[in-house]
Amino acid sequence: MKKIAIFFFILFFLIFYVYGEDQKEKKPWHLSLEELIKPVTLIRAGKDLTPDSWPNGSKVAVGLSFDFDAETIYLRKNIKDPASLSRAEYGARAGIPRILNLLDKYNIPATFFVPAVSAILHQDKIKEILSREKHEIGIHGWVHEPIPQLSEEEERELMKKAINTLTKITGKKPVGYRSPSWYFNPQTLPILKEFGFIYDSSLMADDKPYEILFKNQRTGIVELPVEWLLDDFPYFGFNWQSGLHNQRSSEDVFTIWKAEFDKAYEEGTIFILTMHPHVIGHRSRILMLEKLIRYMKSHPKVWFATHEQIARYIIQARNLKQAD
Ligand SMILES: [Zn+2]
Repeated sequence: MKKIAIFFFILFFLIFYVYGEDQKEKKPWHLSLEELIKPVTLIRAGKDLTPDSWPNGSKVAVGLSFDFDAETIYLRKNIKDPASLSRAEYGARAGIPRILNLLDKYNIPATFFVPAVSAILHQDKIKEILSREKHEIGIHGWVHEPIPQLSEEEERELMKKAINTLTKITGKKPVGYRSPSWYFNPQTLPILKEFGFIYDSSLMADDKPYEILFKNQRTGIVELPVEWLLDDFPYFGFNWQSGLHNQRSSEDVFTIWKAEFDKAYEEGTIFILTMHPHVIGHRSRILMLEKLIRYMKSHPKVWFATHEQIARYIIQARNLKQAD
């Protein structure tokens, strides 16, 4: 009897040991070349989609975008204390009016990417954005959920819920996507195709527009690439809990963004900025943004447009649909 017990003990130990070893992730240098490069080949940048010219012979397309996250930046992490939520409320209450006034002053259209829950919480602000009759509303998740943690079913369900909510609130189905925190899953691109998006603005393979490839196949989806360099948060973000005190002066950021615009203008391509009402909406920073707008406007032939207008122009100019 004792021998049988020992036999089974050893057997179970071996089974669990072998199973456990099998489950451990292989070190990258132990993988075959095929296994190693598989993730790289999943989503890639296709052809450069910069058109020969922009509308009315413009030299550059400028797309200003504002990710209107509001309280979702805390709600997505189950942070519920009123003080934190007040910091997020600032974006809607103080940031959005300043941004809208600035855009009105220079008659500039812009794109607002809005998590659906933020749109529900701030329907009055969404109405104000739409009342200007020149801005676009794009998809930015349901509650700014962390995309890599979602199953394919969850990602599809939340996408459907976000699209339905924004369509109901705005009266127009969004055609552009900006992933919350700029994360993608292997299934994200097929889901974007499924829901009929014409462009994405979450990837970084270039600073010119390009067609996204999925498993080396053309998708017909335009990528309007983003960059941390062209985002207000890395410069101005403040998180005392994690000890991140990396605030830069508005003048520093103006210098960087001005140089990025100068090169985009010289190359005749696009200049895409990602900003957040609770970040750029502060007084000293909105003044910096105004200075940048005045600088860009001092150049001849600068086309300010929504992301949708830029993407639709590219699709038509580069005959992208025909190539699908
Ligand atoms: Zn966001």
